[in-house]
This record gives sequence, C-alpha cells and structure tokens, in this order.
Amino acid sequence: ACLDRIDAVDDRVNAFITVDRDRALAQARGIDARRAAGERLGPLAGAPLAVKDMFCYKGMRTTAASRMLEHWISPYTSTVVQRCIDAGMVILGKTNLDEFAMGSSTETSAFGATRNPWATDRIPGGSGGGSAAALAAFEAPLGLGTDTGGSIRMPAAVTGTVGVKPTYGGTSRYGVIAMASSLDQPGPCGRSVLDTALLHQVIAGHDPMDQTSVPADVPPVVEAARRGDVAGLRIGVVKELSGPGYSAGVLERFNEAVAALTAVGAEVVEVSCPSFEHALAAYYLIQPSEVSSNLARYDAMRYGLRVDDDGHHSAEQVMTASRGAGFGAEAKRRIIIGTYALSSGYYDAYYGSAQKVRTLISRDLGEAWKTCDVLVSPTTPTTAFRIGERADDPLSMYAADLCTIPANMGGIASGSFPAGLSDGLPVGFQVMAPVMRDDRVYQVGAALE
Ligand code: GLN
Repeated sequence: ACLDRIDAVDDRVNAFITVDRDRALAQARGIDARRAAGERLGPLAGAPLAVKDMFCYKGMRTTAASRMLEHWISPYTSTVVQRCIDAGMVILGKTNLDEFAMGSSTETSAFGATRNPWATDRIPGGSGGGSAAALAAFEAPLGLGTDTGGSIRMPAAVTGTVGVKPTYGGTSRYGVIAMASSLDQPGPCGRSVLDTALLHQVIAGHDPMDQTSVPADVPPVVEAARRGDVAGLRIGVVKELSGPGYSAGVLERFNEAVAALTAVGAEVVEVSCPSFEHALAAYYLIQPSEVSSNLARYDAMRYGLRVDDDGHHSAEQVMTASRGAGFGAEAKRRIIIGTYALSSGYYDAYYGSAQKVRTLISRDLGEAWKTCDVLVSPTTPTTAFRIGERADDPLSMYAADLCTIPANMGGIASGSFPAGLSDGLPVGFQVMAPVMRDDRVYQVGAALE
C-alpha cells in the first residue's frame, strides 16, 4: 500500500530520492513467510520505513542529496538501519533532505525541493523534510532522520508529525554520513507518539562501533508513550524561547498546549536560560567548523564526484574542479565559514568563544533541571514558510532553528509533537529532557496526543 501511495503522490511531494520496490516487497514477503511459519516477531515486523538519505544501506545509493555522492552505493549498512532490518521492518527507500543535512527547508537538495503535503507551495522543514513529508502524505508510517540542529524536530513541527532527537550517544552514528559529529544524532519519526517510541526502542542502545555511544540501557520510552501521565511532572516554559519573532498563531497553540498539560496535573513554571539567546550564533560557528573538517574527505580521490577532464592535470586541479562541481552553494558557504573560524588567528575569537557559549548552555540546562523535569517551547518560531521565501537569505533560514539548537548544544533529549493548526498549517510543541531521560519527552508527548 505504501509503495502504491508513493507511485500515486510522490511526483507532487518529492519525498523520496530512491525507492526500491522489488527489494521492499521481497523483505515484506520474507516477514509474511516467517509469520506464517509461526515465528513470534517484534511489534514493528513488517512495518514500512522511510530512511533519510544520510544512512548507509548496503547495495542502495546514499547520496546525502548531493551531486558529490549522486552515484555512491553504500558498501555496508549503518547500525540504525541494520537494527530496523533485524526487527523485520521493510525499507521503502531513501528520502530527500537539504544537501548533507544543512538547511531548514529541504530546498538545497540536488534532487529538487520536497513539498509540504499540507500546502505544496510550502517547505516541509529541513533538513529531513523528505521523511516528514512521507509521513504526512501517508507514503510511510515511520521514518528515520538525523538531528544536528533540529532536522528531525523542525520538519515534524511543520508537517504535523512526531519527531524525536534522542540524547547524544543514545543512538549510533555508525554508518551515518558525518556532518557535525559532536551534534549529529539519528532519531525516529512517526505519525503517533507510540509508533515513534516503538521505533526509538528498536534503533537505540549501545553500539561498540560508535565511540560516542552511551553504554547504558535504553530509557523506557515505550512505557512512557503508553502511560502519558504527567501528574506532578514539573514543566519549565523557557522564557527566552518566545516573544518577538514568534508568530501569534504559534504562541497561541503553544499556550493552549501548556494549559492542557496544567489541566491534567502538570506543575508549570517559567524558567530562564539566558545563554540560549546566543545558541544560534554559537551553533553557526561550531557546526560549520565541523562541516569543514568532515567534508574534506570528498576530494575526488577518496570519495565523491571526480571531474578530471582535459585541463585538470594536477591533484589540486582535480580536487578544485570536483569540489566546485560537487558541492552546492550552502555546503560551500559552511565550508568557507568553518575554515575561517578554525584558522589560526581567528580560532580563539570565533570557535573558542562558541565553545564557551556551549558550556554556558549546558550550565543553564543543569540549573534548569534543579527545578524542572522537562523544558518546553514552540519547536519553530513560525509555521511552514513558502518555497523560495528564505532561499536567498541564509540568516532568516538559520533563524528557523532558534528553538531546536540548544538541545543539540547540550546533548539532551528533545522531541516535537503536533499542537494543532494555525491558519491551516501545523504547529509543533517542543519538549526537552535531561540526558538519557528520553522517556520524559514521550511522556509529555503522549499526554498532549
Ligand atoms: N537547520 C540546521 C542547519 O542547517 C540543522 C541541520 C540538521 O539538524 N541536520 O544546520
């Protein structure tokens, strides 16, 4: 049914870069056969999955939505995707994203923009707009994303779906294309809180192949999603994540959701996290710095597109021509910013200062957890904007990440949940919880559902 739905609507949505119908059907038939043979299978056996094209999946191309990797076929499978296969899930294919997962609109993809199923002249969020749009258009019930500064939560917010960024180290980055390694975190998305928690349970947990993987039990996310009881839970509304720049409709839906949580027994307080005001600026130094380092490997020698026509004779000429042709404008912008911020003479002023802000954000969070069990805010300052509206204005594009970035900087768990509509467009409610308390994110999400 999902494959038929993709055939019917995806030329309008453009959620998928690659679909492998035969392979998906073979996986589905394999699960049917095991079930018919009496095997007891897990709760997601047979469930179709849309995979953001940042995850390696053996035998299928992994493009990161870049010309640089347009024809690159993964020689191995990422831990997260392998765990889904082991759980009996059916991989429909790979979904669209901003090139190398940099962006908030899925417009910078080398494979064309993805459209928001709620209004096809609007963006589906980014960078993981493909997986979110696939959910919203009923092309898939579950999806995978990666969240470096909001790329799971922001698309969830503007498509009326659920998306969770696990605690940093809670899910394995092995086999996921590296963008900004100290911030990147794979995570689940779905149309309901429980579906998303079931997928979280499948993909999370320690992986010796990822040095930053946390060797601890997976937080009880499924139990929390089933329970959904918030009586006595201390919920902190972050003062710095509202006010000017936030649309009135978003704030109305947010306040209604907070009132609904109060009505079912949550204790709501206002908290201040003063350094969140600098999170966006610090992120847009740290993130490009790590990008400039991670993307150095696409040099036409080890990986990626190779342009070596006549006239490009030296290694340097081949690299220059290949990187010039392979990367889009946003990737180039970040490589240049990051290289500058890391260069000797500027390192302390830019990268060093940004790292200090990152420490201050962690301290603010540490203070907040003394009085609150979770923190909440809108997920995005506005609903989905129009395709093209911010494409030529990087700063207004970056502003879409205002609320989501602090969670990445602090390495904490965070999710976005549907909070109703404003002018016919979905609004997201963001929940943040301490390190390895991802269960509380689902607990609040389930109470809102
Ligand atoms: N929009 C943010 C950026 O462009 C977040 C990206 C992400 O989370 N992958 O960097």
